[in-house]
Amino acid sequence: MKIVVADDLPASAVDLLRAPDAWTVETFAGRPRSELLTALADTDALLVRSATKVDRELLEAAPTLRIVARAGTGVDNVDLEVASTRGIMVTNAPGANSVSVAEHAFALMLALARRVPIADGSMKQQRWEKNRLLGAELRGKTLGVVGLGRIGQEVAHRARVFGMRVVAYDPFIPPHVAADMGIDLLALDDLCAQADFITLHVPVTDETRRLFSRDQLARCKVGACLINTARGELVDEAALLDLLEAGHLGGAGLDVFEKEPPTEWTLVSHPRVVATPHIAASTSEAQELVGLDVAAGVRDYLLHGVVRNAVNFPSVPAEEFAKLQPWMYLAERLGVCAAQLAHGPIQTVGIRYYGQLAEGPRELVTGSVLVGVFRHVLSAGTVTLVNARALAAERGVEVVETRSTRPRNFTSLVSVKVHTSTAEQWLEGTIFEPGSPRITLVNGVEVEAPIEGTLIVIENQDRPGVIGEVGTRLGRHGINIATFALGRTSAGAVGVVKVDEQTGAEVTDAVLTEIRAISAVRRATVVRL
Ligand code: NAD
Repeated sequence: MKIVVADDLPASAVDLLRAPDAWTVETFAGRPRSELLTALADTDALLVRSATKVDRELLEAAPTLRIVARAGTGVDNVDLEVASTRGIMVTNAPGANSVSVAEHAFALMLALARRVPIADGSMKQQRWEKNRLLGAELRGKTLGVVGLGRIGQEVAHRARVFGMRVVAYDPFIPPHVAADMGIDLLALDDLCAQADFITLHVPVTDETRRLFSRDQLARCKVGACLINTARGELVDEAALLDLLEAGHLGGAGLDVFEKEPPTEWTLVSHPRVVATPHIAASTSEAQELVGLDVAAGVRDYLLHGVVRNAVNFPSVPAEEFAKLQPWMYLAERLGVCAAQLAHGPIQTVGIRYYGQLAEGPRELVTGSVLVGVFRHVLSAGTVTLVNARALAAERGVEVVETRSTRPRNFTSLVSVKVHTSTAEQWLEGTIFEPGSPRITLVNGVEVEAPIEGTLIVIENQDRPGVIGEVGTRLGRHGINIATFALGRTSAGAVGVVKVDEQTGAEVTDAVLTEIRAISAVRRATVVRL
């Protein structure tokens, strides 16, 4: 496994990736991009901060890349569309810097309330202006948190310890969740009318861009202070300056700006503005945590396929993933099997979950079936969980997922049907015990067979002697039978022969032709898993 670390990452993160045996980690921080592009030719994982642009050129230089991890929250430097179509997982580290940002919001709030920068500036000019620098306590003041996500909640928690009343605006948080945190959810106008400090913690979206427009700023309580550690685009900066100058707003604490660095410095220079250069998350603790977080995510993905903090694929909590993993394994194999039995362009893939497996999100299992189906027809490594659905759509394959919580024969069951223009192949499978995935049905006939190695699937008329004839013909070619599973209905029988691979004998076309020549055999197909 080869991992490339393109930007500066803490040594602890790099060490974590070096830990598994036979993993090579190459670091490129500060080296020319051309060297990075060359190194990517045989790389499995790429870790970046914000300096490296993970664009089309870079992704095309990395044919074996499976995961790009961004040490930070925003993924603006990664071309998500190209990564997704190439089946590359993109992950980030949201939350690892939440406490740092929340503490910085407080640094700005306290700096404004106690006029720390002005006091410090005058001290440095050897002036003792004790009487001029009257401050205000945070205690008893109302804090309006706009966006009650990871950072907003950290801020709210700290504000309560300061003795502040906390109100919040977040239309996506149910009121009872906020109430459990002792926070009143308000409409934005009410929050603005009541809050002494307003702190922004929302992402930039179509709804939030310039959420603090001139009108909204004018609705703020006279003397209120605005703190922005989220994104500059949330605030109309010209209006903010006007309202500060007019004395309507008491102050602003800004870490982020519409343009970074600003080209117009009047707002930053205002005496009631405390400004910092987008450093809210820049603490050694946050950098360490972010680095470790993405490195652990990459390690777990490469070692166990665990998807965490993916921005182009649904993430699944580790314990849920552990439960799903055997089903993903089974599902991929059912997909491979169905595609090999189908012989021809597949038009529809139907996946039905029964019993307990029908409960909860199943994107990973459905994705695994599709990976199996396409793995059979596409070049190695081109289909992954990230792009399997998109590939299906691109190739005109309809994917139909259905569920029934009613158990059928087993507590949980996956049923896969693939349709070509001429026929349908129908397979079902379950997990008998940990590590024992089994086929339980082939084309309507119940049969219990392993789903590994090389299998010969034989559909035949149910009459005496067929097993013997199959065994004799395989024996003639030096092929030993490891297991022979049989199932029958009134319409016919199905045999699944698992070939003993120890002997090294191959199931060639000639072998299949001989089996097909047995008069009772309707179809014989080799499936390689
Ligand atoms: P988060 O996704 O955990 O929380 C965002 C919250 O905003 C959610 O609760 C969501 O429901 C809410 N929200 C979304 N749209 C909204 C709307 N229209 N009105 C009100 N609420 C809305 O995000 P987070 O990790 O807490 O980050 C918040 C912001 O902080 C982001 O903009 C992020 O870019 C920024 N940030 C800045 C720095 C920095 O260095 N200054 C570092 C990290 C994050």
